[in-house]
Amino acid sequence: MAASRTLGTFRLPPLPTIREIIKLFRLQAVKQLSQNFLLDLRLTDKIVRKAGSLTNAYVYEVGPGPGGITRSILNAGVAELLVVEKDGRFIPGLQMLSDAAPGKLRIVHGDVLTFKIENAFPESLKRQWEDDPPNVHIIGNLPFSVSTPLIIKWLENVSQRNGPFAYGRTQMTLTFQKEVAERLTASTGSKQRSRLSIMAQYLCDVQHILTIPGQAFIPKPEVDSGVVHFTPLTQPRIEQPFKLVERVVQNAFQFRRKYCHRGLGMLFPEAQRLESTGKLLQLADVDPTLRPTQLSVLHFKSLCDAYRKMCDEDPHLFAYNFREELKQKGMARRVTDCSCYVRGW
Ligand code: SAM
Repeated sequence: MAASRTLGTFRLPPLPTIREIIKLFRLQAVKQLSQNFLLDLRLTDKIVRKAGSLTNAYVYEVGPGPGGITRSILNAGVAELLVVEKDGRFIPGLQMLSDAAPGKLRIVHGDVLTFKIENAFPESLKRQWEDDPPNVHIIGNLPFSVSTPLIIKWLENVSQRNGPFAYGRTQMTLTFQKEVAERLTASTGSKQRSRLSIMAQYLCDVQHILTIPGQAFIPKPEVDSGVVHFTPLTQPRIEQPFKLVERVVQNAFQFRRKYCHRGLGMLFPEAQRLESTGKLLQLADVDPTLRPTQLSVLHFKSLCDAYRKMCDEDPHLFAYNFREELKQKGMARRVTDCSCYVRGW
């Protein structure tokens, strides 16, 4: 008990400001890496508070950069903070933080897209999926070019309960371009409703908890940011493999302004498109004249279940790709055109 109280009350000693760290280690933001830093520690404290209580928590911070959010996490009384940073220029500044918080900060110079977190924290932290979330958190302000592919990868990990979710329902607090944050959390019928909305919301409780104006970053990005909090659901709202859900959702949003039957039809070879799309929508009991943005997660559950049934009946169906068919038809047409041309000679 005494040990956990000590952990809970830890504060970093006085340190150079983030601005001074940037100067000291010559950490000019690299535009090609979309680096934008948060210098205001009141703001980083606010982001970290939104992650929930971090007392004695094990935290994985992605892309710490000069360490603003890192300081706020350390001051939140964590048991351990593991940071993964790709740009080696930041390592000495982070090492200074590590010296100020002995035994608390582990620094990895690496890439979050390949780093394996599943064995990095003690086994004893692991919880059953149905239990309350483990005391493991992911926090990060990554470049937008990395955060979107990363969240898709992590959502697949949620569905398979591996990667960071080998510990249980690990919570994530991540920063995105504001428009992406809005898409992740968009409700049925809203303008921002998209593939990301369904993929995130069928697996997680997703909350857009904070908007950060562009001016808060150095250098100022062109757009504002949104902080999104994810808690994996005990029971996914769609119980089909991630790749199958992704396929149905991706096709449904193929033509986002048209009726949903247009995009869903692309799940089927042209020769059987009309008939199979009718069967899918009938089995799922979904109105073909709804627009993709008007489909709820429950609609997608019915569509995925119906599509699964049709794939089980026809094992070739899942491998069908309308782009491939188009390509082959294009080639066939070119061959025909070509032979006409040759005959014309
Ligand atoms: N967290 C810091 C802050 O809020 O001030 C820095 C934010 S900056 C937008 C993103 C950071 O992520 C940079 O330090 C960048 O070098 C790092 N980064 C970018 N891609 C990364 C990757 N694939 N793996 C690890 N770190 C990465």
